[in-house]
Amino acid sequence: MSNRLKSIEHEIIKCMKCGNCQAVCPLYKETRAENAVARGKVQLAAAVLSGKLDYTAELAHRFDLCLTCMACVSNCPCGVRVDRVVLEARAALAEKRGLSFPHRVAAAGLARPALMQKGMKAAGIAQSFFFKRGERGMIPRFPVGLDLKRVLPVLAKKDLKEQLPEKNAVENPVMRVALFAGCVTNYVYPGVGLALVEVLNRHGVEVVLPKQQHCCGAPLLIHGIKDTAKEMAVSHVHMFDAAGVDAVVTVCGTCGEAFRHHYPEFLSGQAKDAGKALSLAGRTYDIAEFLTDVVPLDHTLLGPLDTHFTYHEPCHVGRGLGAAGKAEKLLKAIPRATYSPMQDPGGCCGGAGSFSFEHYKLASQVLDRKLRDISGTDAGVVVTGCGSCRIQLNDGLAQREMPQRVLHTVEMLAHSITGAREEGNCNGRQ
Ligand code: SF4
Ligand code: SF4
Repeated sequence: MSNRLKSIEHEIIKCMKCGNCQAVCPLYKETRAENAVARGKVQLAAAVLSGKLDYTAELAHRFDLCLTCMACVSNCPCGVRVDRVVLEARAALAEKRGLSFPHRVAAAGLARPALMQKGMKAAGIAQSFFFKRGERGMIPRFPVGLDLKRVLPVLAKKDLKEQLPEKNAVENPVMRVALFAGCVTNYVYPGVGLALVEVLNRHGVEVVLPKQQHCCGAPLLIHGIKDTAKEMAVSHVHMFDAAGVDAVVTVCGTCGEAFRHHYPEFLSGQAKDAGKALSLAGRTYDIAEFLTDVVPLDHTLLGPLDTHFTYHEPCHVGRGLGAAGKAEKLLKAIPRATYSPMQDPGGCCGGAGSFSFEHYKLASQVLDRKLRDISGTDAGVVVTGCGSCRIQLNDGLAQREMPQRVLHTVEMLAHSITGAREEGNCNGRQ
């Protein structure tokens, strides 16, 4: 275990135990437990590194309890990369204790794109057997490892890769980009990918959708399954390098971080692939960054939307990619749309990938703060830039019988550009 932790020893040493991270940790706010906060986790990792603590199930549980939201990282005066400490500790513990059965199944599925595709098709068919349709999504009929009141989205009948051609060309393109869609957009919210193509094509940008793309690997990395995540990085680096595009555009901060941060780190020791990974990292953008910094949003394309919206900043877009405020600025340009900011737009919603599935009660407590914030804005639409946040927000809104609809940033822009406003797409329930 200590070899892995040795690699982040420099991060652990930096911590001066000041406790600044306490004020911002969403889990500490709910649990008031020192070992839930960054300082506690760094000290636990230090104790393992020095041999004072060895593996126990309780220790593994302590490292599981982290949203990897990076609120602590951005508030740390010493620049401690707590996310790296947590992920390395999880990898060390996964090596030592092995994986649980559900994690083994998930890892096997995510690492085999063809199997994943078949599995999701089967899940789409089986969904109506195991779930019943509620007003805002699917609710479990039986205790299938989920809280019985949990609301989940309907899986798409046709996934994005089935709906979109590989090449979405325009005449005289100003740029050619590849879309990395990610699992949630591909299987759950394909409309986000369609909206992205609509918006970028209208800006004269050709969009390529490499059909062999699969999971970015971040869900595996988050659960400490680093070797498989690395295999997925190699596959994507080769695939997107071969696409010969000017940029890679993502619609989820976690996928964006995989291309920009994790892939170069994974491949840094492999001479042939390291250069390709770095080159892709340097031209990977979240859609909000792309429309701000690369091909700026053309305001003359925007039509009016009579809607009142607020914006939730996903942790991995705002802090992970350093793109805080960019989506808000784009959305505020939409004529006639009223924007009411939340008090804490970047506060974590508690979704954190699979965290809310594994720790539903705690994740719901974190979400409650976000819902109170949304409620205070009086907005009818919540816009966000991440599918995982959208699933979490939609569940919370359903549980508290709140009427707001959730949209992705690029869907809101597409509605404004294409005139979907006339169909009332931006208000009411989803
Ligand atoms: S804010 Fe940073 S330095 Fe201070 S206790 Fe937390 S992790 Fe350590
Ligand atoms: S990453 Fe988020 S949840 Fe984890 S310790 Fe830091 S602030 Fe708390």
